[in-house]
Amino acid sequence: MTRVFNFSAGPATLPESVLRQAADEMLDWRGSGMSVMEMSHRGKEFISIHAEAERLLRELLGVPANYKVLFLQGGAIGENAIVPMNMLRGHASADYIDTGEWSKKSIKEAKKYCKVNVAASSEAGGYASVPPRETWKLDPDAAYVHICSNETIGGVEYHWTPDTGDVPLVADMSSNFMSRPVDVSRYGLIYGGAQKNVGPAGVTMVIVRDDLIGQALPITPSAFDYKIQADNDSMFNTPPTYTIYIAGLVFNWIKAQGGLKAMEAHNRKKAAVLYDHLETTSFFYNPVAREDRSLMNVPFKLRDESLDEAFLKGAQARGMVQLKGHRSVGGMRASIYNAMPIEGVVALVEYMKEFEVSHG
Ligand SMILES: *Cc1c(COP(=O)(O)O)cnc(C)c1O
Repeated sequence: MTRVFNFSAGPATLPESVLRQAADEMLDWRGSGMSVMEMSHRGKEFISIHAEAERLLRELLGVPANYKVLFLQGGAIGENAIVPMNMLRGHASADYIDTGEWSKKSIKEAKKYCKVNVAASSEAGGYASVPPRETWKLDPDAAYVHICSNETIGGVEYHWTPDTGDVPLVADMSSNFMSRPVDVSRYGLIYGGAQKNVGPAGVTMVIVRDDLIGQALPITPSAFDYKIQADNDSMFNTPPTYTIYIAGLVFNWIKAQGGLKAMEAHNRKKAAVLYDHLETTSFFYNPVAREDRSLMNVPFKLRDESLDEAFLKGAQARGMVQLKGHRSVGGMRASIYNAMPIEGVVALVEYMKEFEVSHG
């Protein structure tokens, strides 16, 4: 068996030990005689798996008691609609900060449900930074302020938590969720899909302050009403059981690595290997402002784009896959989530050096 270094932006690489454990437990989960996939979501076995996943998530992130943790379906793109449906709470508008492709998608979808005020945007600068807080034109009557904490395509990440006063801060954390500690109490709501740092695709995690729920728009589908799901322990409808199980194993793995502080240190070290190299060469470049560079997704381009194909082919031959940039921006992108070992990043940089010598 040969495993590659998989730089996919998502679904993404998972810790090998988690995959091995899942394989060991595939046919018979801990003496139950069943695969987790075959269990009733209402049976005691799965209820314990679900409770353990939630317990670990709460422990790792330090989620305060007045926040609900929901495991839902629909993905972060689903949440782009579900958030306004649940969070408008009688308000007519919401503020959105536009930092790239994913914020743009959130804005477009929210416009179906409310007036959207784009309170700041880095579009004019080619989405190469996070607009400084003092430039944001926030509306004190907005229902919430929405940010994308890590732009998976552009490689732009918030390394600070915006202060939005009494207006709840809402964050799409899909691609940096569980990659570092977060002060959950600074947020009204955090959401994210699992398939970047946490598990396979299929579960969407929502962490929401409990005083903000219970006022969903009447059109909200019941399965996407946070209050109904919270009252039913995320089991108003069948939850994505197997994905929740794997997420629980990944949380356990994060804990064994030393928790989120250790995860952050590991992620910083990996990102530095790649960014430091990008600083030393003009053969490759990354357009993002230094202080806003993502620890998770590192887009980079070859100055000579005609070499892109050769670069990708050579990477593939060395067991490094999924380095092609998003179709909307081109170039390369190395996604280096929690489960990417530092050896993968070192191998990539070695290859970049070799490629530059042979093609520069
Ligand atoms: C991957 C991603 C999404 C999309 O999630 P889906 O599961 O496809 O709905 C949304 N936002 C961000 C920031 C992402 O990285």
